[in-house]
Amino acid sequence: MRVLITGVAGFIGSHLCERFLEEGFYVIGMDNFLTGSPDNIAHLFGNKRFHFIHYNVVNYIYIDGPVDLVVHLACPASPVDYMNHPIHTMKVDSLGTLNTLGLAKLKKSRYVFASSSEVYGSAQVHPQPEDYWGYVNPTGPRSVYDEAKRFSEALCMAYHREHGLDVRIARIFNTYGPRMRKKDGRVIPTLVEKALKHEPLPVYGDGLQTRSFCYIEDMVDGLFRLSVRENLEGEVINLGNPQEITILELAKEIIRMTNSSSDIVFLPPRPDDPRRRCPDIKKAKRLLDWSPRISLQEGLESTIKWFKGL
Ligand code: NAD
Ligand code: UDP
Repeated sequence: MRVLITGVAGFIGSHLCERFLEEGFYVIGMDNFLTGSPDNIAHLFGNKRFHFIHYNVVNYIYIDGPVDLVVHLACPASPVDYMNHPIHTMKVDSLGTLNTLGLAKLKKSRYVFASSSEVYGSAQVHPQPEDYWGYVNPTGPRSVYDEAKRFSEALCMAYHREHGLDVRIARIFNTYGPRMRKKDGRVIPTLVEKALKHEPLPVYGDGLQTRSFCYIEDMVDGLFRLSVRENLEGEVINLGNPQEITILELAKEIIRMTNSSSDIVFLPPRPDDPRRRCPDIKKAKRLLDWSPRISLQEGLESTIKWFKGL
């Protein structure tokens, strides 16, 4: 089986690639290193079943030979990254999605799209089930990401309905772990990095907004199951850990776990920062027989250890 993974040099892509290789797949990885790094995949270059193509998926994609599965992960995922690259973000999750879907149609591949909990926007329903349509500001600073993901989901479903393509959509909730960039701006790497340096931890707004954090190993397992199980054509599935926590509690926990002398500094709230976010994962349990196994405590321990080793 040959799988194409776009965004392979990123945080999730590099871990998912390892899993496919472990399971005996041949992986073609594609990345332009916008927010990923060759360091994340350098250890895979000696593997005969791994082939890397340095490429921007916004352009027409040509692959020689068969492709059984396409997993489209390429896209900046951190709010800081996608706000720094607003147009690129919109291109990679419109033109990039179109190109990868076109390739999947040509090669008769299965197609998995990495969507996001951001399609729910500032959700008015809690926790968020897949049949909630969301509450998104279409022109705010986060819209470049939210609307591109929503457009991509619609495009996936159009290819499914018009061409019978076997598409599956993963709505990924906040995921963390080793290989996140220290300075990617997402909350866990930022707070861990600051705590380890005994510098103040920045918390936006009152810190009472919530997130639910999934450890990378659990996310990879969910994405792998979504990719290989039969009879999931056209399904949209939330993947995330329903253990919800406020950002203030998270900051305090990170200070405690790193024995840090850092204080917490409150900064003005980010525009359109969702107030509460927590996945309803009943569908993932039912269709994938999947639920996260790693608690926030355990996941943070491994992540802190990794950041200490950098
Ligand atoms: P990441 O930024 O670490 O990885 C994205 C990768 O895509 C990077 O290696 C980057 O260089 C690559 N890329 C960007 N534009 C590209 C282009 N035009 N052509 C080729 N490669 C390109 O982010 P991540 O956390 O690994 O996220 C991966 C996917 O999962 C993204 O689609 C993201 O939207 C989705 N997602 C992630 C989370 C999360 O919490 N990590 C949550 C929801 C959704
Ligand atoms: N956040 C914070 N300090 C930081 C980074 C983020 O308080 O240094 C908050 C942010 O305002 C949001 C939450 O943490 O409420 C998660 O932010 P992140 O950028 O990780 O991703 P998001 O879930 O917003 O996409």
